[in-house]
Amino acid sequence: MAIDFTGATEESIVSTSMISGDESEGSLRPKTLGEYVGQEKAKTNLSIYIEAAKKRGEPLDHVLLHGPPGLGKTTLASIIANEMGVKMHITSGPAIEKPGDLAALLTNLDQNDILFVDEIHRLNRAVEEILYPAMEDYCLDIIMGKGPSASSIRLDLKKFTLIGATTRSGQLTAPLRDRFGVIERLELYTVDELRRIIERSAGILGIRIEPAGAMELASRSRGTPRIANRLLRRVRDFAQVLADGVITSEVADDALTRLEIDRVGLDSVDRRMLRSIIDNYSGGPVGLETLAATINEETVTLEDVYEPYLLQQGFITRTPRGRCVTRRAYEHLGLEYLGQQKLDV
Ligand code: ADP
Repeated sequence: MAIDFTGATEESIVSTSMISGDESEGSLRPKTLGEYVGQEKAKTNLSIYIEAAKKRGEPLDHVLLHGPPGLGKTTLASIIANEMGVKMHITSGPAIEKPGDLAALLTNLDQNDILFVDEIHRLNRAVEEILYPAMEDYCLDIIMGKGPSASSIRLDLKKFTLIGATTRSGQLTAPLRDRFGVIERLELYTVDELRRIIERSAGILGIRIEPAGAMELASRSRGTPRIANRLLRRVRDFAQVLADGVITSEVADDALTRLEIDRVGLDSVDRRMLRSIIDNYSGGPVGLETLAATINEETVTLEDVYEPYLLQQGFITRTPRGRCVTRRAYEHLGLEYLGQQKLDV
């Protein structure tokens, strides 16, 4: 077979950010809270707040959604807009360069509308300061002129809801964080939740998949719906070319093995990360920046994309002095575990 599936793209198949081929994600996005799988705590809380706000005829309190990429923050924001019956305007922290950009966005909002700001931790200070009175009192303080003759005028805004999404809530300034009435953390999904997402997506895309095939994909999707949907589309190609178009557990296993995704969903970067801690740093502790330099990856990528799943699966632990691998990591890589070799001093 002359088709090189694994070389189809330079981008990592387990990348949690959008890569080419993900454009059809839109059709897979759930539109109601009922269709949104998992995240039960966040869903229950939000459904109560939404109902209460609707009963009072008021906008929803400002909402901060945080958690690793690809877990459904944007999706949840659009569901909130849908359930509230209001419009959602989408922007992102780095896209709002000047206070004037934010003022333009805010003055365009209708009563009870939602402004969704992705990567809100990347807002610059000058913009953030405009946001405080807007969030608290629905008004803008505009400075006219410069120097000693400068004066400020207050402009009233319509009542709105700000929904901020971030992968790094720790980088939010305290005054911004304090202005969100609702803060929800999204968690990695369980295998069973991912299986339901995969079966739902397969139904929408007209992909034939056996329950065992869905289970195989789910357990190798790193707890992330975006990856689950991507693996589904990729494995469909294998099923069409190598089998009868049906994704069975054998087809899924074969395809994912060719894509170098192992039985628990680790890819080559995960394995290099674990190997490096073991081979170069005797199992740790090692600082994330040092580790990133050693394996030639970006520190933020390791922290946002790789580490959450490795921590959740118990392959690494985080200590004040850096990351350590666990016995489970040695065993997974087929290495003998000799105990923690380098002790904290
Ligand atoms: P984030 O904003 O956190 O990076 P997205 O909201 O863009 O993530 O979600 C990525 C994709 O994963 C969406 O297109 C959607 O199809 C799917 N998805 C996310 N969460 C869920 C969920 N709870 N149920 C079903 N599909 C989901």
